[in-house]
Amino acid sequence: MTTYSELNHAPFRDRFVIDEPGVAYLDGNSLGRLPKATVAKMEQVVSDEWGRALIGSWNQAWLPISRRIGDKIGSLIGAAPGGTLVCDSTSINLYKVAWALLQHRGRRRTIVTDAVNFPTDLYILDGLRRQLGPDLRLESLDLDQGNHAEVGSILASAINNETALVCLSHVNYKTGYAFSMEQVTEMAHAHGAPILWDLSHGVGAVPIDLGTAKVDAAVGCTYKYLNGGPGAPAFLTVRADWIERLQNPIQGWFGAARPFDFGSVYVPHLGIERFAVGTPPILSLAAVEPGVDLTCEAGMHALRQRGWQLMQYFFTLFDQRLEKLGFKLVTPRNPEAAGSHVSFTHPAAWQITQDLVQHHRVIPDFRGPDIIRFGITPLYTLGREIEQAVAALESSLTHGTYRAYPTQRRGVT
Ligand SMILES: *Cc1c(COP(=O)(O)O)cnc(C)c1O
Repeated sequence: MTTYSELNHAPFRDRFVIDEPGVAYLDGNSLGRLPKATVAKMEQVVSDEWGRALIGSWNQAWLPISRRIGDKIGSLIGAAPGGTLVCDSTSINLYKVAWALLQHRGRRRTIVTDAVNFPTDLYILDGLRRQLGPDLRLESLDLDQGNHAEVGSILASAINNETALVCLSHVNYKTGYAFSMEQVTEMAHAHGAPILWDLSHGVGAVPIDLGTAKVDAAVGCTYKYLNGGPGAPAFLTVRADWIERLQNPIQGWFGAARPFDFGSVYVPHLGIERFAVGTPPILSLAAVEPGVDLTCEAGMHALRQRGWQLMQYFFTLFDQRLEKLGFKLVTPRNPEAAGSHVSFTHPAAWQITQDLVQHHRVIPDFRGPDIIRFGITPLYTLGREIEQAVAALESSLTHGTYRAYPTQRRGVT
């Protein structure tokens, strides 16, 4: 049994800027906290590299960043060196890589995803289906909460020799359900289909081993558990044997073999750099590295161990104090099948979320129609923040204070 004082010991917490006493920030899976090292790094990049060295910084500092941070992220997810690039947004990377894999579809006709995938993933895949021809179909499986036991059989009956691409999010952003990456990848490969995983809610939260699972390609966010900053550039990673066979649908100069030759004909880079498009946003890119470094320093296995202790603590408090108030847990209790956030449903979830934020200084996320989601970031989340969230939920429900808030939602939470 983990003790309460162990749950409140987060060795990396003081490496973050935390100066809002009394706030329980359980939203690191929407926007991770600011590492102190990032503040210093930005000062250096802006004042020295931009302010003083100006254009010379491209050669001295900036050109290698996308690959260098890519390799560090690659080490967190079991990708081979040279296979990962930080660039663009997750949405754009998903588009580029899915398009590239679909060029190899031959006579295969179906893109398999799930209907509760993150909306941008669904929109991108639906757009690709429309753009790439009338023969393609998008099959969005019903893998909604409540039927996790059947996920294997639902996937098995959907993936076949017609499957052109399987594209799924490793950890579901609402329920926290995590697919078995190895099993699902094997299922796709058994039918000759490539698989593209979106790791946005898994990277930095749970150990991932793309190499062992032989995953074809993956994309993911850096501003969630990796603490890269608002709108930080995302990453994409491609298995070594695919890289030279995949084409970038947007032939920009940064994806070319020799951008600074200024040649008039596009010749793609031989490496993962071929997935770059235009000039990288250096300031945002530079801000990604300190958060990634912290995660590498802490190590994914130690982080997951701590994260799972916090998850279990939350489950225990849920059973003791929240279930009887009408909340229903939707996150699996098995570490093999769960990411690093705890979600439950309540018919008044939106009102309760507002009460938590405005009255109790607890920051979760609302995800419609009825989910409240609490991110557990093992680098800095404390047991007492979970205790504060549970106490706030109890108070809101027993006193009915949530009823004072609008039932209609607006803005971002
Ligand atoms: C957060 C998230 C995204 C975000 O995509 P952006 O292009 O950065 O806006 C995409 N997919 C999943 C699964 C996510 O959780």
